[in-house]
Amino acid sequence: MDAAVTDTSTPANSVYAIDRWGMDLVSVMENGDLGLKNPLNPDAPAVSLPSILHDLEERGIHAPLVLRVSSFLESSIRTINESFAKAIKRVGYQNDYRAVFPIKVNQQAQVIDRIVEFGKPYSYGLEAGSKPELVIALAQPLARDALIVCNGVKDAEFIRLAILSRKLGFNTVIVLESPKELDTVLAVYEELGEEPRLGVRVKLTNRISGNWAESSGDRSTFGMHTNQLVDVVDRLKAAGLLHCLKFQHSHLGSQIPDVNDVRRAVGEACRYFVELTREGAPLSHLDLGGGLGVDYTGEKTTSENSINYSVDEYSANVVETVAYAMDEAEIPHPIIVTESGRAVVATSSMLVFNVLEATLYDSNKETPPAEDDHHFVSDLAAISGYLGPQRLQECINDADFYRAELRALFRRGYIDLRQMARAERIYLYLMSKIKEIAPEVGTAPDVDAHLEQLADIYHCNFSLFQSLPDVWAIDQIHPMVPLQMLNTAPDRRAVLSDITCDSDGKIDKFILADGISPSLPVHSLDTEKNYYIGAFFVGAYQETLGDLHNLFGDTNVATIDLRDDGSFDLVHEQEGDTIAEVLSYVEYDPRDCVDAFRARIDKEISEKRLNARDRKTLMAAYRDSINGYTYYE
Ligand SMILES: *Cc1c(COP(=O)(O)O)cnc(C)c1O
Repeated sequence: MDAAVTDTSTPANSVYAIDRWGMDLVSVMENGDLGLKNPLNPDAPAVSLPSILHDLEERGIHAPLVLRVSSFLESSIRTINESFAKAIKRVGYQNDYRAVFPIKVNQQAQVIDRIVEFGKPYSYGLEAGSKPELVIALAQPLARDALIVCNGVKDAEFIRLAILSRKLGFNTVIVLESPKELDTVLAVYEELGEEPRLGVRVKLTNRISGNWAESSGDRSTFGMHTNQLVDVVDRLKAAGLLHCLKFQHSHLGSQIPDVNDVRRAVGEACRYFVELTREGAPLSHLDLGGGLGVDYTGEKTTSENSINYSVDEYSANVVETVAYAMDEAEIPHPIIVTESGRAVVATSSMLVFNVLEATLYDSNKETPPAEDDHHFVSDLAAISGYLGPQRLQECINDADFYRAELRALFRRGYIDLRQMARAERIYLYLMSKIKEIAPEVGTAPDVDAHLEQLADIYHCNFSLFQSLPDVWAIDQIHPMVPLQMLNTAPDRRAVLSDITCDSDGKIDKFILADGISPSLPVHSLDTEKNYYIGAFFVGAYQETLGDLHNLFGDTNVATIDLRDDGSFDLVHEQEGDTIAEVLSYVEYDPRDCVDAFRARIDKEISEKRLNARDRKTLMAAYRDSINGYTYYE
């Protein structure tokens, strides 16, 4: 059964570069299915993703769905913790590493639950950036020495809960975002008589490259400048509370593409740590925030969706930089904390959807000439007589010209609908001939651009706005591939459009073996079989950033565990939103809707426009809809 193919000559790898971005998580099986590999046991056979979907369908869990793979999550938690442990050992670093997971990156209960469970051996903690996130953190069975780091803007309520939680043995740290926040902390301290455990958030001046450059540097929103830090230290001293300042925090950014940016920023953070220590603050933890990236494209470059380093390299750089800075200043090594979110959860979820239908911009049906054809229609049809590799561009020019003329004639009423339809059909036939010939010639840029205009539109059963918001908002690229037939060369190219009625709801940027492409190679649809496409590495940020555009709600979610024998366990299932649920999010009471619909029926019946018999069918249709899935079923 183990059918992982690593041969780059298979269509899957030479087209989709699955071997490049798939890491140790996905591979192509001999039967052409995409397989999920167990990174915790590389010798275990891959599990076919289409067969998992089939199995879930039988249990009533349909696409579109988010599939979370626990084994992937466990593996990335292990990787980051063990990577730091290795670096600490190799460098001879004199203290520990403690990771915290920033809840905002994926707040879903099932995800946090797994993270807490898998993280326990590593005393993995949580980072809360808001009151609700702190409430989540305090409900988790964390290890006793795990940290809870409170970032973000905090009011007295937030601070009170953070301070009081320490009485329960939670290791909660309040990171001061501004001097003003210190006023609130001091007031709550007065009120409770309990000392807080404090940190300061330092604004680094180093600019980080990449998509999130704005979260670094002088103008970044969070953190304190030198003058504010001095102010906080002085006021803590005056209040006799400087001994509470144990923690220094900086968030380096997100998806940092270049490891040298990490090194520079960590070096700067260390300078603050040294200076604050010299000011008398008994700092014990240096928190370097998030930023560890994911190689979405597998290119290993500093482009926005890639990174030029491994987790091992990241942790080695962090540990070495901190060790060097502390040794130079003759300061004991602090506990190193990081808040990696994306790198921990992104790879563990995928979005799987089916293709509903295709709009094609070509046709292999020849249209025989007719006697009463307009002469432009005949001219258009004549193009196929001289169509060949040498005259490709000329044929495209001619076809475009005649079609444009015919459309103009149609608009003015000189040719009828049937004549125009014949012209369009001939045009589509020419385009499919051109597509056939084009790859042989090694095309000119104009021809390429024209061919991209001829890509199919595959209409897919998902909402970009709900499930892949970063693709819409910030041009995030997720690896996307068909989940079946990967041993067969794809014969079409398509742009993916979603099920919302919004022309923005489409994907036209794909990572392929030869770079970023505006269309995805796909197979012709077989009306008998579901054709599935997967969007990978969607575990970070996507689930809660998504919105209800067109009232498409949360998709179904299934959490699975990969077993060593090539099978899987369904760990948890979460049904997607029903229509009643999404209606209630936008202030409707579904019961009122049902009542209003029923009243309308009764009115029609009483005014004799409707049979009493029809009442049942109508009510059932309305009820079925309101209780159903928001996506195409
Ligand atoms: C968002 C955030 C993180 C997570 O960043 P990633 O790039 O996902 O690792 C960590 N810390 C803070 C303070 C954040 O705001």
